[in-house]
Amino acid sequence: MEKFKYMEEYGFEQLCFFQDKGTGLKAITCIHNTVLGPSLGGTRFWNYKTEDEAVEDVLRLARGMTYKSALAGLPLGGGKSVIIGDASVLKKDPIRREAFWRAFGRYIEGLSGRYITAEDVGTSTQDMVYVNMETNHVVGLPGRSGDPSPFTALGTYKSMLACAKHVFGEADLKGKTVAVQGVGNVGYYLCELLHKDGANIIISDVSEERIQKCVKEFGVKVVGVNDIYSVDCDIYAPCALGATINDDTIPVLKCKIVCGGANNQLRDAHVHGNALKNRGIVYAPDFLTNAGGVINVSYELAEGGYNKEASLRDIDRIYRRMRDILRISEETGELTFQTADKMAEERIEAVRNIKSILTRR
Ligand code: NAD
Repeated sequence: MEKFKYMEEYGFEQLCFFQDKGTGLKAITCIHNTVLGPSLGGTRFWNYKTEDEAVEDVLRLARGMTYKSALAGLPLGGGKSVIIGDASVLKKDPIRREAFWRAFGRYIEGLSGRYITAEDVGTSTQDMVYVNMETNHVVGLPGRSGDPSPFTALGTYKSMLACAKHVFGEADLKGKTVAVQGVGNVGYYLCELLHKDGANIIISDVSEERIQKCVKEFGVKVVGVNDIYSVDCDIYAPCALGATINDDTIPVLKCKIVCGGANNQLRDAHVHGNALKNRGIVYAPDFLTNAGGVINVSYELAEGGYNKEASLRDIDRIYRRMRDILRISEETGELTFQTADKMAEERIEAVRNIKSILTRR
C-alpha cells in the first residue's frame, strides 16, 4: 500500500508507530480526523499476520470512527489503535502485563489528547486501568460509563424501530420475527429488548453457553450458524462478524430489513449495498445503528462527568436520524449508507470552515 497516497485520498491526519522492546509492545495509532474534536476509538489487540494487515485495519477502523461520531452528533473525531501480538499470552503474565499497558499509556500521553483510547477486541477494562496510570486520555474505565454493549444494543433497537416504521408503517416489533446472528454482548442485550417488545426471535451462535442463556431467558428459537441467513424473518440483525452481507448471503435472505450491531456488515459497501437495494431489502447503516456505545462512553468526557440520562437521550436520537436517512435516500435514490456518509461529511465540512475564524488575520 502506498501509505501517503492513501492517507491523502481519504483525508487521514496522522499514522503513528510505537515500540517498546522491554515489554514487546508494538502499537500503531491512526488519527483520521480531529475537526469535530479529539479522535476517539478503542485499541484492538490482534495477532495480525503482517504489519501491512495491521496498518490497513487501523486506517479502516479510524476512518469508520470519524463517520460514526460525526453522524451521532458527538464533539469527537475518529481514531483507533491496534497492537500486534497475542493478547492471551500477555494475560498469563501479570508483571509484564502492567508494564506493557503502562508503556502504551505513556505513548498515548505523548499524543497530547489528539487521540483518546478505550477497550476493543482483545483488550479489557483492567488493561485500560493500567493505561490510565500513565494518561487521562482513556475512557471506559470501571466505575464510570461501564460496559458499552447494552447501549450499543439500545441504539440498534432504536434504529430497528425506525426501519420498521419505514417498511411496515409502524414503529413496533410486536409479532415481527428478528433473526439475531451472534448473542454475545450486543446480541444478548438486543434479544432482551426484542423479547420485552413481544418479537419472535431466532438466533445463531457458535457458543452453546450463550445460546442456552438466551433460550432460557427469552424462549428464542435456535438455528445453525449457516442457516441464519435464510430463515423466514422480517429483520436480519448481524451482531457477530463483519462482511456477512455478501454475494453468498444476499440471494438467500428472506428479510425486509438488515439492521444489526456488527461493524462493517457489507463486504463491499457499493456492490452489496446495491445488491440489497435491488432485492428490496432496507439496509440500516451500521455506523449509525451501533453508535450507542460510543455515545455513552463519550459522556465520560462531558463537563461534570458521566451523565446516563443525557447519554440515553442522545441514543434515542438514533431513531430520528435513521428515519431521516431512510426518507432522504428514498427521495434521492442514493444507497442508505451514502446518505449517512454525506450527512457526516456535511457536518465535518461545516465545522472545518469555522476553525479558521479566530486565526485569520
Ligand atoms: P462478542 O464477542 O461479545 O459477541 C459476538 C458473538 O458472536 C459471540 O457470542 C460469538 O460466539 C458469536 N459468533 C462468532 N462467530 C459466529 C458465527 N459465525 N455465527 C454466529 N455467531 C458467532 O462481541 P460484541 O461486543 O457483542 O460485538 C458484536 C459486534 O458488534 C462486533 O462486530 C463488534 O465490532 C460490534 N460492536 C460492538 C460494540 C459494543 O459495544 N460491544 C459497539 C459497536 C460495534
